Amino acid sequence: MKRFKDKVIVITGGASGIGKSAVSRFLRDGATVVIWDVNEAQGQDTLSEVRSNGSIADFMKVNTTNPEEVEQATLATIQKFGQIDVLINNAGITRDATIKKITYNEWQQVIDVNLTGVFNCTRSVIPQMIDKGYGRIINTSSVVGLYGNFGQVNYAATKSGVIGMTKTLAKELGKHNITVNAVAPGFIATEMVKTIPEKVINLMIDKTPLKRLGTPEDVANTYAFLASDEAAFISGAVISVDGAVTI
Ligand code: NAD
Repeated sequence: MKRFKDKVIVITGGASGIGKSAVSRFLRDGATVVIWDVNEAQGQDTLSEVRSNGSIADFMKVNTTNPEEVEQATLATIQKFGQIDVLINNAGITRDATIKKITYNEWQQVIDVNLTGVFNCTRSVIPQMIDKGYGRIINTSSVVGLYGNFGQVNYAATKSGVIGMTKTLAKELGKHNITVNAVAPGFIATEMVKTIPEKVINLMIDKTPLKRLGTPEDVANTYAFLASDEAAFISGAVISVDGAVTI
């Protein structure tokens, strides 16, 4: 079913991991997908991997921490594809350290990407969503934003911050038929997981009632639900995709 065939969907951080899986997911459903990612090489690789006959996908090199670059990407996307219907603020980084060891740089880098990047992209795409009276904004939080995590003071602050932004924007933008929701993934088996020792992975699995790690597709499916007409009356929600690890 090509349920997104008339939709233009921007996915930040779409070059890898969860974002890449979301790119494939939306293309399969007929959307026009534009990847905004800072990693050009990986973005181009992803593009050639996910493109199939008839699907429309594009890559734009964007550092979401830079408001001018984001503004240019918004203009370029609208110029090329006419509109932005859905923004998925998926780009995110970690720079883990305990409060005793963390450097100011490690703090600031994570704030810049995970919080200011979300703010920049959202602020930039909103005017044309308001003009059209339609929009879907989906932010990527984390279970860490709900419950904290040892050694992630910077990451937890941003992922909680994203929830505050989501709820505030849901209140501000609802009257324009723009929904704003957040997804809070748990332990997801992306490339990153390959660097984690097996013992730690097994511990994660053990702590998760569904007894497995999540897949990027589990998160991409939730993005797709929130972007769909079925979710038209859902706004300001935070949906955990975590195998019940947080209950
Ligand atoms: P990933 O590292 O595989 O992908 C992140 C992408 O974001 C990369 O392609 C990277 O180039 C891009 N990016 C980073 N900084 C950027 C910037 N300034 N501008 C534009 N693009 C930038 O990460 P992932 O595991 O797929 O995570 C995706 C999202 O899900 C993140 O927000 C992350 O915090 C969140 N999350 C992931 C997990 C997990 O277990 N993987 C769990 C909870 C939440």
